[in-house]
Amino acid sequence: MPVTPAASPLKILHVASEMAPFIKTGGLADVAGALPAALARMGHDVKVAIPGYRKALAAAGKRGITWAAVPMTIEVGGIDHQVGIGTVVMAPGFTVHLLACNELFDRDGIYGPSPSQDYDDNARRFAVFCKAALALPGALGWAPHVVHGHDWQAGLVPALLERGYGNVLPATRSVFSIHNIAYQGQFWHWDMKLTGLDWSLFNPLFCEHYGKLNLLKTGIVFADRVTTVSRTYAGEIQQGEFAFGLESVIKGTAYKLSGITNGIDTQEWDPAKDPHLAKAFSAEDLSGKAACAAALRKDCGLVNAPGAALVSVVSRLVEQKGIDLIIDAVTPYILAGRMQLIVLGTGDYHLEQRLNQLQARHPGWVYVWYGYNEPLAHQVIGGSDIFLMPSRTEPCGLTQMYAMRYGTLPIVRFTGGLADTVKDVATGNGTGFTFGPVDLGHFSSVLDRALGLYAHFPGEWRDAQVQAMGQDNSWDRVAAEYAGLYRRICIPA
Ligand code: ADP
Repeated sequence: MPVTPAASPLKILHVASEMAPFIKTGGLADVAGALPAALARMGHDVKVAIPGYRKALAAAGKRGITWAAVPMTIEVGGIDHQVGIGTVVMAPGFTVHLLACNELFDRDGIYGPSPSQDYDDNARRFAVFCKAALALPGALGWAPHVVHGHDWQAGLVPALLERGYGNVLPATRSVFSIHNIAYQGQFWHWDMKLTGLDWSLFNPLFCEHYGKLNLLKTGIVFADRVTTVSRTYAGEIQQGEFAFGLESVIKGTAYKLSGITNGIDTQEWDPAKDPHLAKAFSAEDLSGKAACAAALRKDCGLVNAPGAALVSVVSRLVEQKGIDLIIDAVTPYILAGRMQLIVLGTGDYHLEQRLNQLQARHPGWVYVWYGYNEPLAHQVIGGSDIFLMPSRTEPCGLTQMYAMRYGTLPIVRFTGGLADTVKDVATGNGTGFTFGPVDLGHFSSVLDRALGLYAHFPGEWRDAQVQAMGQDNSWDRVAAEYAGLYRRICIPA
């Protein structure tokens, strides 16, 4: 039993399939980069294990990677894999270990040859990764109090720990985080042979879900504690509408489930110091925001339309994000001269086609940029007045928090992390606008309400901006919640 006095530092190993700044496809990378950094700033001893993908090793090379003299031998399904340990020191008490295995990770893709295609051997790839992550502490001569796995790619970690894999880390506790329950890591039953777990566990109480090996379920079932990325999402995933078939599993493990809302990188996203903006601004002096809006209109070829709110979207262009609602709703408000629209994103072909039509019908009033563009994301969020995020589901969402920090009031659907981070102005001391049912009527009316406040009540608008900019969504606050959770499972009550 790793008993730790209340104030003593904890040893924590994170296991994640992506991590900023080494490799990123989504929000998980932001969490796996920022949470360990914040925990280390609190004085904890933190290591992160990620796969040594080709791109991640290239990024690590630029930061100075060192290699362990001897690789680990990891057996999976009767085949031995040699796994090299690359180490990058990020900060005092914070190191990243890239677990390199040429035949599995030296490829252009991360999960597959393209974003819509998986590699055939993903079960083997991530089984090797999980086993190597659990062998890592032994190789380093370091025993963590807690191993924290993220998403299905780390789903075997809690199971192997609980079942005493290799007799390593007998007293270590496990935490498992669900970043998006839609992605579950499902494989045919023969891949159970790769897990290192006993065949008897291939049943609906443990690893099997409707005839398949389900690695997300495996992580959830075996972990000492399960977290997800917002409080509201923790409740939602106990309902069929949100759980992608796992609602009964989540309900059955609700006693150990909690929601901890993600934070944002407040250094990277700071309107007072953002090198991408035309002019800096802050809650005390918002005057620079007008300069940012003027620069953005000019860069995007929008006409100067006094009185019209600059409304923006920065998002993956997919149905989940409610992009179709936006396209359906905006035309009357544009024709009335009440708003202009800027969209930055990439995604579904049919949504892009509809956005093209919208832009062609409203030249000078609608601008769409397809692709991933970090500087433009800062400029769009910094320069606009209103940010749209009418997601059908949203485990946490980061962009609404960036928008608030830049005094750009978000309109969000009341779901998941959006419900936890945005407070409607109608309730007093609000930071944005919320709506419930996903339909054109409800979305149009909240848009009308926001545009009305913007145009006719500048004092109230400014109050809401100041309120939004003052929210503490920093990782330091969030990391303290995780540290509390870790301590609760390490110290007997
Ligand atoms: P999700 O993870 O579902 O895509 P989040 O709001 O949690 O949604 O995170 C999205 C992240 O990706 C944010 O950091 C956002 O700023 C960024 N992003 C999304 N689309 C673009 C884009 N086209 N260009 C630049 N950044 C983008």
